[in-house]
Amino acid sequence: MITESSYNRQCPICSSNSWEVVLPLAATPLGDRLSDSFQNATSLPKYALELALCNDCGHTFLPLVVAPEESYGDYFFETSDSPGLSDSMQRIAEKLWRDCSKSRNNYVLDIGSNDGTWLQHFKNLGANVLGIEPSPRHAQEATARGVETINGYFSIQSASEICKKFGAPSLITANFVTANVPDLANFFQGLKDLSDDNTTIAILSGYHPDQFRVNMIDFIYHEHVSYFSCQDFINLGEKFGLDLVDIQRVGLKGGSIQAIFRTKSSRASMSGDVGRLAQYEEWVGIRTLRWFESINDRIKQAQNLTHKFLDQIKADKIVGYGVSHSVTTLIYQFDLVDRIKVLTDDNPRRQGKFAPGSGLTVISPQKVVDDKFDTVIIMAWQHDRLIKNRLSKLDYPGSVIQPLPAAELVNLSH
Ligand SMILES: [Zn+2]
Repeated sequence: MITESSYNRQCPICSSNSWEVVLPLAATPLGDRLSDSFQNATSLPKYALELALCNDCGHTFLPLVVAPEESYGDYFFETSDSPGLSDSMQRIAEKLWRDCSKSRNNYVLDIGSNDGTWLQHFKNLGANVLGIEPSPRHAQEATARGVETINGYFSIQSASEICKKFGAPSLITANFVTANVPDLANFFQGLKDLSDDNTTIAILSGYHPDQFRVNMIDFIYHEHVSYFSCQDFINLGEKFGLDLVDIQRVGLKGGSIQAIFRTKSSRASMSGDVGRLAQYEEWVGIRTLRWFESINDRIKQAQNLTHKFLDQIKADKIVGYGVSHSVTTLIYQFDLVDRIKVLTDDNPRRQGKFAPGSGLTVISPQKVVDDKFDTVIIMAWQHDRLIKNRLSKLDYPGSVIQPLPAAELVNLSH
């Protein structure tokens, strides 16, 4: 069953109704819903997953938004679940804290603060911290661990309440959450209202021009409703009285950007990197149909080659390595639901559960060897090094296929 739409919407940045679908992907259920039973997993509704390009401002977004309550009700992943995140994030936190103005309140607000891991870095640096997080469980757990966390979404309303109680923060951070915000106007107005001329706003977000260059289309899923470029952030700032004063590419998640905003009235100086990255985007042509067509072609090619390899090696008992939003996108887009028998994941909390839509069971990596699965497909290919090491350590004797960035048969001895 494919649920057609919650609603079709305007461009979230410029409100234009003129947009077109440029990257139509296979419909999937919400990607983070691991179920306790096969029955529940396979009865989840599927939603269209199509990327659109605004004809007026060039923003890339999902015109279909699944109601946020549905996405976050039983949100399953935690910051500390992502391997390798903590070290890089600690370095980013240290730089932000060093650079921001600490004249008065000295507090850091983190939007979408999850389990409080990020704010804990600032606490260790001597900062006062406050989180706001939509998942009730994460908010409670973070508060219990000493990271005060408000349970809710960031909006004009919550910004006003925070401002009354705590004043303007020295630093506002939002890591990998802005892309999940359907109402960008409300979010950015809230940021503006809460900031004074000493506040630094730091937004970390996936950067699709870099991600798509390595065919990372599996970061497209229903919760990711906006795909930001440097030009998008310039446009958003203009609209809400903020200046994009700096932007840096960051290696996280296959390509990300950190955008730094200050209020227009602060008259903060602007880094030359802002203009340079916007220019680069023009050169790459990220707002052209041609660019999306070439991504479509490369994805199709990788999909065909993956199936060709599976046929060539006569793969029979196939296991997919990794369980995540991205894996859900990939498993449907590459038409692997009927070929894969089970999934495996290092995280014990995911083992024994059932994957959304496909109902595939999640087993431990050791069981992959014990039960003699003949082929592993590295579904969570963003972590391919970790997975290859893991398989080598387990002396996995079967075949290994990696579907992206380009499909290949992996030789574990290398
Ligand atoms: Zn637009």
